[in-house]
Amino acid sequence: MKNLIPNTYDADIYDALIIGSGPNGLSAAIRLAQAGLSVLVLEGHETIGGGTRSCELTSPGYTHDICSAIHPLGLASPFLRTLPLHEHGLEWVHPGVPFAHALDSGDPILIHQDLNATADALGHDGRAWKKLFAPFVDNWQALMDDFLGPLPLPPKHPILMTRFGLTALQSATGLARRTFRGARARAAFGGMAAHSMMPLEWLTLGGFGMMLGVLAHAVGWPMARGGSQQIANAMAAYFQALGGKILTSTKVTALDQLPPTKAILFDTSPRGVLSIAGDRLAPSYARQLHKYRYGTGVCKVDWALSEPIPWKAPEFAKAATVHLGGSLEEMAISERAIWEGRFSESPYVLLVQHSLFDPTRAPAGKHTAWAYCHTPHGSAEDVSGLIERQIERFAPGFREVVVGKSVRTAVQMEAYNPNYIGGDINGGVQNLRQFFTRPAVQWNPYRIPGNFGGAKAYLCSSSTPPGGGVHGMCGFYAAEAALNDLN
Ligand SMILES: Cc1cc2nc3c(=O)[nH]c(=O)nc-3n(C[C@H](O)[C@H](O)[C@H](O)COP(=O)(O)OP(=O)(O)OC[C@H]3O[C@@H](n4cnc5c(N)ncnc54)[C@H](O)[C@@H]3O)c2cc1C
Repeated sequence: MKNLIPNTYDADIYDALIIGSGPNGLSAAIRLAQAGLSVLVLEGHETIGGGTRSCELTSPGYTHDICSAIHPLGLASPFLRTLPLHEHGLEWVHPGVPFAHALDSGDPILIHQDLNATADALGHDGRAWKKLFAPFVDNWQALMDDFLGPLPLPPKHPILMTRFGLTALQSATGLARRTFRGARARAAFGGMAAHSMMPLEWLTLGGFGMMLGVLAHAVGWPMARGGSQQIANAMAAYFQALGGKILTSTKVTALDQLPPTKAILFDTSPRGVLSIAGDRLAPSYARQLHKYRYGTGVCKVDWALSEPIPWKAPEFAKAATVHLGGSLEEMAISERAIWEGRFSESPYVLLVQHSLFDPTRAPAGKHTAWAYCHTPHGSAEDVSGLIERQIERFAPGFREVVVGKSVRTAVQMEAYNPNYIGGDINGGVQNLRQFFTRPAVQWNPYRIPGNFGGAKAYLCSSSTPPGGGVHGMCGFYAAEAALNDLN
């Protein structure tokens, strides 16, 4: 097998090689470089960033986020927030309102960063909303330390986590119904929990709603000015300033393509580990990776618009993120259908209107919109028509302002990024079982047991704790495991 490393780097022996330059691969690379190791990142795609890439998907001058769009986890990440990313060009843009939720009653639900303003907006459920979130918003940094911590280690803040856990372990539907009397607060909570891509009546899904709600009030739901690509670019620039090197257009298909090294970190799916290094893995670990479960997919759509989305309720222009799924009951039905392998005629749609807050995303006076809905695992169906119908429900005339469009089905998402197995954007189902056993049952989830010559191997992607999202914590903890072993 041909050695991948070009002549210019032949003289270098790297302490660590990272396969993949997603936010977790780059986090791992940075942490290792900070510790003084020589590190090379190998990225299969022609550009870096994994789930944080942006490009002109529709027409020249319109910048679209191909995957991730909104970054409360990035801003709150215990590791990313220690990095000087602003010095390398990353600027967070905060929309006036973290998110909005649409109901047919026409009365828009705005979830403000300020808890009191949200409580006022929610009327008779305002007090309950505040009571639910306030204790955790006040202690959000401690909560993030544990929530984005390396399970299965015991929490650093056991009392806070126990209190959070008692709430978060409930189903989203149960928690919303027990806590709120009205449809508006219930729907707003359900819209956050539905980010999980699992049936809302499952235990623990209350936790997704809780965490996203805490972040909405604690840090907001920001976007990166110029596109999510700027997150990857800033991380890469800092990594290179530490002496790290990156090779793009370099897909790793077998371990014997790699030069000698001390540590190999996989920012890939478990399936990627099996295909690159299956014959070197400890058999019991390989068996577990074969059984690892991937979740539902997404159909992703981007539009170039001649003008802003013509919302029935003009207040929606205050929020970048708008959840279009109707009532809690409607979202529960549509998410359940997807999980059971059926399409819902009325899907839960996550929509982001970046250009209202970041004018760099579109030519002067023009706009962009980003949206996806969940689909059955591995679906090849283009459901952009259903998504547009859902938008038209709350913004009649939307289709008339569309001047460009790009669609990726779940199958096309996987073709674009091999980590999105069947279109699953979270690196595997994040249910109770896989929450604690990502990707296998073992004390340190990042170590890959096996025989890798003189090297040790680690999984650092979102298929390890704490799972999906642009927070870089999987990469950080995998790098910590490697540093422990190498020292
Ligand atoms: C449509 C969509 C919307 C999302 N929205 C959000 C959001 O708003 N906010 C948020 O926080 N998160 C969001 N996410 C999730 C987030 O993007 C991911 O959880 C995150 O990117 C995972 O990071 P990662 O580093 O583990 O993997 P990835 O970002 O997937 O990166 C893996 C990298 O490894 C490379 N690679 C894989 N195999 C090989 C190989 N064999 N050789 C070389 N390179 C390889 C890939 O090309 C890729 O660049 C979204 C994802 C999608 C798809």
